[in-house]
Amino acid sequence: MDTDVAIIGAGPVGLSAALLLGRLGVRVCVIERNASTSTHPRGHVVNARTMEILRALGVEDAVRAAGLPGERNAGVTFVTALSSPDIGVIQTKGIPERDAQHRASSPSLKVSCPQDELEPILLNAAKALPNVEVHFNTEMISLKNSQKDVEAQCKNSDGEFSITARYLIGADGTRSTVREQLGIEMEGQGRIGRQIGIYFEADLWELIERRPYLLFWILNAQTCGVLIALDGRRRWTYNFAFDAEKETAADFTVERCEKIVRTVIGDDRFPFKIRSIMPWRMTARLATQFKKGRVFVAGDAAHPLPPTGGQGMNTGVGDVHNLAWKLALVLDGIANENLLESYEVERQPVAQINIDQSLVNAMKMANSGLSGMASHQSDLAQMLAGPDAPIAEEKIRSIIPNLREHFDYVGQTFGHSYNSEWIIGDGSERPEFSVVDYTPITRPGHRLPHLWMKSVSGIVSTIDLLGFEKFTLFTTTAGNSWISAFEMLAREMRLPSQSFSIGNGGDLWDEGQAATLLKLNSTGMALVRPDGHVLARADELPASPRSFLEHALSAALSQKTPSEKTNQTTQAKNKAVA
Ligand SMILES: Cc1cc2nc3c(=O)[nH]c(=O)nc-3n(C[C@H](O)[C@H](O)[C@H](O)COP(=O)(O)OP(=O)(O)OC[C@H]3O[C@@H](n4cnc5c(N)ncnc54)[C@H](O)[C@@H]3O)c2cc1C
Repeated sequence: MDTDVAIIGAGPVGLSAALLLGRLGVRVCVIERNASTSTHPRGHVVNARTMEILRALGVEDAVRAAGLPGERNAGVTFVTALSSPDIGVIQTKGIPERDAQHRASSPSLKVSCPQDELEPILLNAAKALPNVEVHFNTEMISLKNSQKDVEAQCKNSDGEFSITARYLIGADGTRSTVREQLGIEMEGQGRIGRQIGIYFEADLWELIERRPYLLFWILNAQTCGVLIALDGRRRWTYNFAFDAEKETAADFTVERCEKIVRTVIGDDRFPFKIRSIMPWRMTARLATQFKKGRVFVAGDAAHPLPPTGGQGMNTGVGDVHNLAWKLALVLDGIANENLLESYEVERQPVAQINIDQSLVNAMKMANSGLSGMASHQSDLAQMLAGPDAPIAEEKIRSIIPNLREHFDYVGQTFGHSYNSEWIIGDGSERPEFSVVDYTPITRPGHRLPHLWMKSVSGIVSTIDLLGFEKFTLFTTTAGNSWISAFEMLAREMRLPSQSFSIGNGGDLWDEGQAATLLKLNSTGMALVRPDGHVLARADELPASPRSFLEHALSAALSQKTPSEKTNQTTQAKNKAVA
């Protein structure tokens, strides 16, 4: 079997990679060990940046429809059992200034769509593309990374076979065979407690009708963990830590898990059915390399992180969104292979930030006595069961306002930026990273901000204009020289491209926000990569817009500039003549 890109693993990251690459016209072959996509709903928060990516791929509406209804995703509560009153609540919706910030940051809002619902949507969209093949019940057992291709040895029920690919992405999860085959080391914390996830069904509407919350943190003398409302009524997962010094995952039999679920619900009137029990390990680790030869690691294979904050899958989708357009351009011969080195340089620091923050979230809960998922012990839970319950409740109410960044992180969603030799810095300082708050910025390396603009076809977001496959130039109606230079260069470099002029009589117009938000002065411009990150910007027209853009685009593609290429050819010809 022969393909452009082989992807190992049909989890959310492998499937997103397949969909992105497939839509970019790349031949893709996905290999998945299991018989189907996940049946256990592990992760669920799809952040607004991932939703923007899924929007560009045409599946945002399907994911939103399959997720927890927006009005049921309004906060997080702390209780002793589902049947008990709220001790304290963190509202994540309904606070006007927070809602306004979320809405102003993106055309998309985050949703909670469990992995068992999300993955089939990605799979079906990927499989609908003629250039994407997906093979279930097939395991990759070894790989050979050579100068010109990668050979992956696989096996299925018919026996062993090999796939030859120009590149390979290991999206094969925490215990990645790809990573192991490449000998890539991991750094960080290998085991932060041991955990169990129970997926069960029960109609618990009567207990939650007036409590439209995504998470119910349970603080009970028998069990501490988090109950996740998957559909806001019938589908639930309960995740908790156990004492690995005293017991093993095998000790959590169905009978024992039933007892735990009964305690979590706290009311025997409600029948329930356990669907699956999944042990998992909380780790906070980062691969020392994201690329070796022609092979990349992405998602949990590169950075398994604590689920506290819902960053794991989202970080992985960000990885492959960064990588897909680069692979497509290299495979088309438009970009130099060296561009692929930027994947690690750009994504490793983002993964590190998300690992660190997820760990902070986990340890904040554990250290403040709320147990969370990193610890199986909670003094406060013990107190809640005795005469000191009112003191414990007061203490919990004093702790939880400090946990907002765990659940409400618009800054962490949109504030990541790339700092690499493939981005043309403008000399400005990188702003301080904020988890909670997002400040729109067009500084090179950052995601271009969202802004609703008017156009002849109606109101459109800058994010929708960008899509996922083209270089985009924004300028003003006074910046025509930018546009003509850009269009000529794009033709010469065979670049997928588009340009927009902003202002009266232009392609787009607004009430002046573009000038302030996009920081476009009268003859300025912002040049954006296919992944929506700003490649270069200028405040005014330079003497030669062509030279400016040539320099930026050549850096972005790791390519010689068209002028350098012409000089090289002329020199070669002169040499031949001489
Ligand atoms: C309780 C919990 C809650 C979470 N909540 C969130 C959340 O809200 N938001 C979020 O973003 N993340 C969340 N996560 C994390 C999220 O589940 C993971 O980050 C995500 O599944 C990683 O996706 P992936 O595609 O990289 O890996 P995986 O989902 O692990 O998929 C890897 C795939 O590769 C396959 N595979 C492995 N080896 C081979 C091989 N040799 N050959 C063929 N196939 C192979 C596996 O069978 C698997 O299907 C949560 C995790 C847990 C445990």
